[in-house]
Amino acid sequence: MSNPGNSKYVKKLNRMRILNMIKDYEPISRQQLSEQTGLTPSAITGIIRELIEMNFVKEVGLGESHGGRKPVKLKFNCKAGYVIGLEITQHETVFAIADLKNQPKDIQSVAINMATPQEGIPLLIAEIKKLIEQQEHSKKFFMAIGIAFPGLLHLHNGLVKRAVNLGPAWNEYPIKEALESALGLPVVIENNAKAAALAEKWFGCGTAYSNLAYINMGEGISTGILINDSILAGSHGYAGQIGHMVLDSNGPLCNCGHRGCLEAICACPALIRKVKTEISFIDKEDPLVKIWEDKQDIRLADIVLAAKVPGSYAESLFRQVGKNMGLVLANLINLYNPEAIFIGGKMAVAGDLFIDVIRDIVSTHAFPEIANFTVISISALGANTGAIGACALVLKQLLQSSESAILDDPERILRKKGFFWSRSQII
Ligand SMILES: [Zn+2]
Repeated sequence: MSNPGNSKYVKKLNRMRILNMIKDYEPISRQQLSEQTGLTPSAITGIIRELIEMNFVKEVGLGESHGGRKPVKLKFNCKAGYVIGLEITQHETVFAIADLKNQPKDIQSVAINMATPQEGIPLLIAEIKKLIEQQEHSKKFFMAIGIAFPGLLHLHNGLVKRAVNLGPAWNEYPIKEALESALGLPVVIENNAKAAALAEKWFGCGTAYSNLAYINMGEGISTGILINDSILAGSHGYAGQIGHMVLDSNGPLCNCGHRGCLEAICACPALIRKVKTEISFIDKEDPLVKIWEDKQDIRLADIVLAAKVPGSYAESLFRQVGKNMGLVLANLINLYNPEAIFIGGKMAVAGDLFIDVIRDIVSTHAFPEIANFTVISISALGANTGAIGACALVLKQLLQSSESAILDDPERILRKKGFFWSRSQII
């Protein structure tokens, strides 16, 4: 403890601890903080002075006196800083801005072609700069960026290992470094399904569950699995590739190079491809054929619309999605005994068209002792779960990680706008 480096670290941990106590138990007085933490009143006074100078804490009036002076109440100032969360997919990126209590706002989707990083990353950087410089955001103190990314990631060095639904140009791409050096803000990256699983746990329907799986159904299919509230990472951090479970070894070719993977049969591009291949064989009165004749194109929204008509081709297509997803989820339930499974991502808009089929198939094929207690439902956070999860992840790093730089040096925070962190200062 006499080592100056060590005492600086302890001081930082105490600042972080006090800030989190104020955030979780506000309004709270200095005396209550001293009683709760065991830190001396003078230590608390010093830490609170710094936190007020940094604008993270505000005095909000007087509390009840229990003899002596009335105590001053303190509150966490969640507007002192903001983070940006993104979910990247091949054709569009969802952006969200959240304050320090993760109240995401300004959620918007921007069309960006991410087939290669050489093309996509400069466009992404331009969009982030545009967002930060917008009039309503220009006075905000942006502290970090979270990225939910569709692929295998090396979290330690910030590299993309492989992103089969974006393209081979992403292999080994240093996404964290590229964004940090261009934007001057710390960047936290995570697989999109894992980020979404955390969002579901922290802010969605999953708050009551410690063992849940979030299934991201969109351009691909992947899962984030929580075991006892912790993300299942696997030995290299690549766990969760449920979309590449093989359903039919002679089935359609998958972007991963194998045949008959779940996502090559049930993900959004697979459904659109199937419709386009079979359109000339579909009954001429079918609503999907009429849409095709009008537009010469088919999108997910068209298939969802057509599926509302009983007996339509699209209705049976989603029933088939439910059957295939049901088989995979029955296996997942038998294997890992989750309390709940939430289905989100772009295809969640069609959830009502296949969720009951999934439940039926699961109840037929999974062990009843396990499946009868597993909740299966559509995510309440909808298609924005990944971006909300990315905000949550970066806030967790900023406010809870002992390695975070947020409260390292009060002087730096005081400089606020115009101040940018170096790359090594977060995680
Ligand atoms: Zn595959």
